[in-house]
Order: sequence, then structure tokens, then C-alpha cells
Amino acid sequence: MKITSLSDLANPALCPRLVVKVGSALLVGIDGPRRAWIEALVGELAAARQRGQDVIVVSSGAIALGARRLGLEKGGRGSLADAQAAAAVGQIALSGLWAELLGAHGLTAAQLLLTLDDLEDRRRYLNATATLTRLLDAGAVPVINENDSVATQEIRFGDNDRLAARVAQAAGASAVLLLSDVDGLYDRNPADPAAKLLPTVHGITPEIRAMADGGSHSGLGSGGMTSKLQAAEIAERAGIALVIGNGTKDSPIARVTQQGIGTLFLPREGGRRKARARQAWLGGRLRLKGALVVDAGAAQALRSGASLLAKGITALEGEFVRGDAVMIRDAAGTALANGLSEYDAAECARLIGHHTSEHAALLGYAPRSAIVHRDQLVLL
Ligand code: GLU
Repeated sequence: MKITSLSDLANPALCPRLVVKVGSALLVGIDGPRRAWIEALVGELAAARQRGQDVIVVSSGAIALGARRLGLEKGGRGSLADAQAAAAVGQIALSGLWAELLGAHGLTAAQLLLTLDDLEDRRRYLNATATLTRLLDAGAVPVINENDSVATQEIRFGDNDRLAARVAQAAGASAVLLLSDVDGLYDRNPADPAAKLLPTVHGITPEIRAMADGGSHSGLGSGGMTSKLQAAEIAERAGIALVIGNGTKDSPIARVTQQGIGTLFLPREGGRRKARARQAWLGGRLRLKGALVVDAGAAQALRSGASLLAKGITALEGEFVRGDAVMIRDAAGTALANGLSEYDAAECARLIGHHTSEHAALLGYAPRSAIVHRDQLVLL
């Protein structure tokens, strides 16, 4: 079962976990935060929670808001230093507001500020995934932004569209909703009266990219249609649906899910969504730092979808640290899987051959549930 229509975004069975990204122009107006608008959106997020969906918010607006408060020109985007200072001022106010307004619905907000490296670096990706999962399990609503005040040019996403897609991957979400100031992707410049809204996009082709060139730009955020398509590409590869919807209209989530106004970028065909999401990440980014040799029992368990436990490992090779990608192979040298190690090589060496119940004593601290968790593993 996967998402094939806009209404599926409100279906907890098809979309148990939804990322909603809110652009700067929606959050910040001429006099500061657009409180009434945010309040209404939070009402819709609370309704999604009532339906049984996990919700993650990716909130822009820190730079725009901070720039207003500090009186910086060009919306705080004149220089990196301006953007960083503006974000520091805007972020604290915005997160306070999210916490207050979510709190009014009995929801606990949790702030995460991420840089690009937090999601590209394997160890940090694991940590971000673990934190997000724990927060959602505990019932909180993560409110995420880029850590603009410390992210330098080289380690910046620069736009929250791609950040939202990567967060969705990290959190194992089913869909990302990008709330913007347009209804979705048009087949030509939306100012052209003949322009038509595309309800569904199957794959980001050169033709689709050409359509985005005529897209709108509010000037407040750094997004525009180009970064939305880049986000859609990340999502598509990861098996996650991405939707562009118009946040300037009343009840923007319902407008997408009930009235069907928006553009749905379908996840790529084939395979289970979760497996594909991991494959997209593991496949695209890994350099293997070592190998774990496993016995026949462990090889069989891996093939049936289990995590790799220390007991079934007979040897290890290479110098790797927690979060690095390693190959898992059998004694004959046949590669079985790639995965991310939960431990450094030295820690692994102490644990292999031992049952999980012995790990705490061997390590002297609380062990992880596996050497390579099945969520961080891809069979070859
Ligand atoms: N992280 C930026 C902010 O909070 C927004 C990035 C974007 O415009 O997408 O202001």
C-alpha cells in the first residue's frame, strides 16, 4: 500500500508519519510572526495527530523574522553573517511560538536544529534518526530547522525543502508536504493564464524541470520551485511521496487532502517504501570502511530480515567507527549485505561471538540492540 493520491496524506494507514514544511513567507509577515495563521495550521496538525498520524514540522522563517527584529536589510540574506545573526534571533522566537501553540492542543514541541552534515554523515544520521524516533514514540512533535547560526556555506542545505526531504528519510516518514505560496507545479509560468496545475508527477524529467523555471518566488525564503524539485527528487528516490500545497489559503492541509489541490510527486515504483528509503541512502552514500564475517545461521537470519547480532559474527576487518558503512559477508567471501555499524571496530571485536545478554558486562555500559540494526542494513 502506498500513497497514490492527495487524500492519502490524511490516511494514517497509508501515511502514518507526515513531514510538513512551512515556508518563511507563511510564518513571518510585516509585523513579525503570523500568529493567527500558525495557530490555524497547528489546529490542522493536531487533527492529524488525532487521526493517528505522527507529525514532524520543518519550520523556516528564522532568518526572515530575525532580520526584521534586528533591522537587517535584504531580509537578513545580504551576507552569511547577517543570515546567521538573524537566524539566532528569529529561531528562539519561532520555537517559543510553536511550543506555545502546539501546547495549547496538549502537544509537546521538540526543537531540532540540524546542519547538512548531521544527515550526510553516517554516525550523525544514526543519531538524528534515533532522536527523531524516540521523540515521536514519546508523543512529541519535532519542530526542525537548519542550524543556520552555525552552518557555514559548505555545510548548509540553504533551503528547508531539501532539509524536509532528508528529515523525512531520517524519520522513515511516508510523505512530505511542502506548504508554499503556490498551488503546486504548473506546466508553465503560473502568471500565464493558460498555465495548468499538474496534479501528479511521475518522475522528475527534464521537461518537469523546465516547467519549474517559471515558478514563483516570494523573496523571503531561499526556496522557489527549483529547490522543491530537488527535494522531490530526494523523496522520490527514497520511496517517499512529496506534495506541494498552497499555505496561503484557509486550512491548507485540508485543501490538499480534501479538495485535492496540490501537486503530488509519486514515490518511485517497486519495492517496499522503507527498504527503498534505506537503499537510497545506503546505496548513494556509502564508502565501506570494513567487513563483518558471519556464520551460516546469521546469514540466514539476515536474509529473513533480522538485525545482525554479535553472536553470529566470526571475524571483523578494517578500522571503522560507529555509524560507518561495513560489508557483511560469509566465510566464503560472498557479500550478503551492507549496513551501518552500531559500534566502533574495537568495541565490535570485544562483542563478537557473544550473546547480547553478555554485552553490558563486556562493554561496561548499556549496549545497543544489535551490531547492525535491520533498519540500517541493505541486502545485496
Ligand atoms: N532555515 C531558513 C530560516 O529559518 C529557511 C530556509 C529556506 O528558506 O528554505 O529562515
